[in-house]
Amino acid sequence: MWYVSTRGIAPRVNFEGALFSEGTSRLSRTTILCLWIPSGILKRPGPSLAIHPTTLTDLIDRAFSRFRHREVVHLSRLRNGLNVLELWHGVTYAFKDLSLSCTAQFLQYFLEKREKHVTVVVGTSGDTGSAAIESVQGTKNVDIIVLLPKGHCTKIQELQMTTVLKENVHVFGVEGNSDELDEPIKTVFADVAFVKKHNLMSLNSINWSRVLVQMAHHFFAYFQCTPSLDTHPLPLVEVVVPTGAAGNLAAGYIAQKIGLPIRLVVAVNRNDIIHRTVQQGDFSLSEAVKSTLASAMDIQVPYNMERVFWLLSGCDSQVTRALMEQFERTQSVNLPKELHSKRWERQDYEQMAVMECDSCCVELCLGNCGAQKRERDRGRGGG
Ligand SMILES: *Cc1c(COP(=O)(O)O)cnc(C)c1O
Repeated sequence: MWYVSTRGIAPRVNFEGALFSEGTSRLSRTTILCLWIPSGILKRPGPSLAIHPTTLTDLIDRAFSRFRHREVVHLSRLRNGLNVLELWHGVTYAFKDLSLSCTAQFLQYFLEKREKHVTVVVGTSGDTGSAAIESVQGTKNVDIIVLLPKGHCTKIQELQMTTVLKENVHVFGVEGNSDELDEPIKTVFADVAFVKKHNLMSLNSINWSRVLVQMAHHFFAYFQCTPSLDTHPLPLVEVVVPTGAAGNLAAGYIAQKIGLPIRLVVAVNRNDIIHRTVQQGDFSLSEAVKSTLASAMDIQVPYNMERVFWLLSGCDSQVTRALMEQFERTQSVNLPKELHSKRWERQDYEQMAVMECDSCCVELCLGNCGAQKRERDRGRGGG
C-alpha cells in the first residue's frame, strides 16, 4: 500500500515512511505539511507490505498484552440497540492506549531494523501524554519528553505521567495552558536542522498509524453489532464519535469509504469548530481554547479534518491544498459549496451529522449508558 500526501506536494511513501515523516509537520510552518492517506482506498491496493503479517500479529499481541480485558476492546450491549464500545481497558484508561500501544510497537520494529534512535516530544492536556509514556516506557530506541501543563490535567493523569521511573521518560511540568505549551514545541520543530540532528518526532493524533489502528475499531464494533453479514444491503450502524482533533472521525470516515456501512455522528464540546464546519461550512478558528471537563477534546485546530476534506473533494489535492493554505494564512475558511454539500448526499450511507454538546452532555450521556448497564447487570443477577 502506498500513501499519498493530501496536498499532493510530496512523493508517495510506504507505511514506514508515513509513520516517521508525520507529526513533526503539523508543528512547523517552514516544512511542507503532508498528511498521508492510503492511495489504495478508493482505487486498488498498491505493492509493498511494510511488515510481514506474522510479525505484525506478534507486534499487535505485544501491544495489547497489558490490556486488562481479555477481549482488549469490549462491546457492551445496553437497551434498544444501544451499545457502548469500551475502548478504555488499556493501561492509562484512555482510548488512546489502543492506537499508541500499536504505534509504539511499529516504531520500535522499524527503529531496530534501521538501528536508529528517536526522541518523541509531546505536549499534552492529559490523555496523550500518559498513553504515549506507557506505550514507549523502557524502550531502548526511544526517549520521550512530555510537557505537562501544571494544574490543567487531572490529578490521576499527572500521577500517571510523573510516576513512571524509566530512564527514557522525561516529564516537565510547565506553566501555562495547552495553547501556550505548544509554543516552545512549535519553535523546536521549526528548527529543521535541530529536528534532524536529534531525530525528533511527535506522536500526536495526526500520525497515520494512530488513525489506522482506530479504523480497525470501527470495523470491530460493526461486526460485533450486526448479528449476520448475510443480509443485503448490510444494516446501517450509527456511531457516535466524541472528537477533538478529528482523528477518530477521520478513521470512521475512511472506514466508510472502504465500504463499512456506518453513519457517523460527531460529538464535540464547546470547542465546536467541527460542528460549525459540518453545519455551515465554517472552518474557522474561535478566539481561544475553551476549557471543559472533557479536556482531551479541548482542541482548537482539528488537523485531521484535512483528511476528511481530501476525501470529500474526491481526492483532489489541489482543492485540499488551497483550502488548508488559506486556513493557515487567515485561520478562517468557508468551505466551497460543492464540497460542503457533499456531506448531505444521501447516496449510500455517507453522512455526517454533529451533535453539539458540552462536556456536561457527554457526562449525561455516559451517565445514562452507565445506568442502563447497571440495570442490565442487575437483570442478569450481576452486581
Ligand atoms: C483524545 C481523545 C479524544 C479526541 O480524539 P480525536 O480522535 O483526536 O478527536 C476524545 N475523547 C477522549 C477521551 C480522548 O482521549
